[in-house]
Amino acid sequence: MTEPNQTAQSQRNQVPIQCPNCGTQYQTPVISMLDVGAYPELRSYFLSGQLNVAECPSCQTPVMLEVPIVYHDPRAEFLAIYFPQQLNIPEMEKQKMIGELTQSLMRSLPPEQRKGYFFSPRQFVSRQSLADAIYGTMGISQDELDRQRKKSRLVEQLQVFADDPKGLQMMVKQNEKDLDGEFFSILAAMLEQAGAMGDEKMAGRLTMLRDNLMPLTAWGKKAQRQRAAVESLKDLKTPEEFLDRIIAADEDEATAITLAARPALDYEFFQALTARVDAATGAEKERLTRLREQLLTLTQNLDEATRASVEDSVQTLQEIINSPSPRSAVREHIDDIDDVFMTVLSRNMQAAQEKKDEALLQRLSMVYDEIMGMMQQSAPPEVQFINELVMAPYPDGTRKLLADNREMVTPELVDLIGQMADEMTRNEGEDAAEMVKRLRDIRAQAMLMI
Ligand SMILES: [Zn+2]
Repeated sequence: MTEPNQTAQSQRNQVPIQCPNCGTQYQTPVISMLDVGAYPELRSYFLSGQLNVAECPSCQTPVMLEVPIVYHDPRAEFLAIYFPQQLNIPEMEKQKMIGELTQSLMRSLPPEQRKGYFFSPRQFVSRQSLADAIYGTMGISQDELDRQRKKSRLVEQLQVFADDPKGLQMMVKQNEKDLDGEFFSILAAMLEQAGAMGDEKMAGRLTMLRDNLMPLTAWGKKAQRQRAAVESLKDLKTPEEFLDRIIAADEDEATAITLAARPALDYEFFQALTARVDAATGAEKERLTRLREQLLTLTQNLDEATRASVEDSVQTLQEIINSPSPRSAVREHIDDIDDVFMTVLSRNMQAAQEKKDEALLQRLSMVYDEIMGMMQQSAPPEVQFINELVMAPYPDGTRKLLADNREMVTPELVDLIGQMADEMTRNEGEDAAEMVKRLRDIRAQAMLMI
């Protein structure tokens, strides 16, 4: 998670606090207005519990600052005020704050945008209850939240037994029905978060827990079989071998193979499978008929999902392009920007170029640059530094940049540059030859400095 963007700085106030652990006094920014229409990144910042958490500069003790927070999501027509219970704000004071808030919101908007929901902001006394309501605006129900919270607690309980096979087995018996795909994806998310926070001890325990749970749970066993089935594909050489492999698979394995190798299930594949169905008799004929049915449904659903996600991306791109300010529209749609969107965007740029539609191309390029800028901001410092190096003139500009940032020039950085060059060669081949050469040149310059 990155810091809220620079633009959100305007919504911050500095307040003085004293560290409860070592007594150090310091200033820390506090955000009390969350307008997620203008600053969508503040939503996940709040939901992940990072909002208004200060860290002591001397002893790194974190402190959660509880201040009243206004949360406004114009799209969902959701306006809320959080009054922390521990502040014990008198009712009169609350009503006064609500009145002032409504007034200032009304003043800031033209009459046609003044909506009824401004007059009755919802009130919350805990971060948790406000978070639940925000999840509600995102289409996640209370039932779903309760179930997911129960499963994250279960991950926490189980990690205690990560290295205790007997205890783990007992816990698995007691919680068998909760150890499903959702449980394992929550575990994976917690593992990723522990990694991102640099909590190696927790990451290690969660990895051990996941590995030890795999052979103990029905879902884990299925996942292991599916992984093995997909692994086995890489030894296959001909379409006939592929057909034999999928015919030998059980239902779960066939599903995993289809997901991993959709293009191999083409018209010829289904023709060959039909020939096998026709040639078979009795129970085997029935089984193969069912398999063909399953594979047809699965491929149709997959193609439908792909088509729908391309359509969504086309629509998102239209909205961004037609908005009066494409740059802020990009930020509003941050959650919709994925690989499919980037493919749609680059196809549109290509088409605009071919049609010589300069105005459109310029708007599309603006969108592209804004996305790249946002990705650059959230990239690790090493990656940002390498990007800066690549943009700098070679050899003098890059040498100066390396010399000015000597503390960044480490054996790890040199490795990372090498990895990026290798990856680019693998993924983009000849197209990236020039960039790969530049990376290798910079890597050589950097090596001379360590
Ligand atoms: Zn301290």
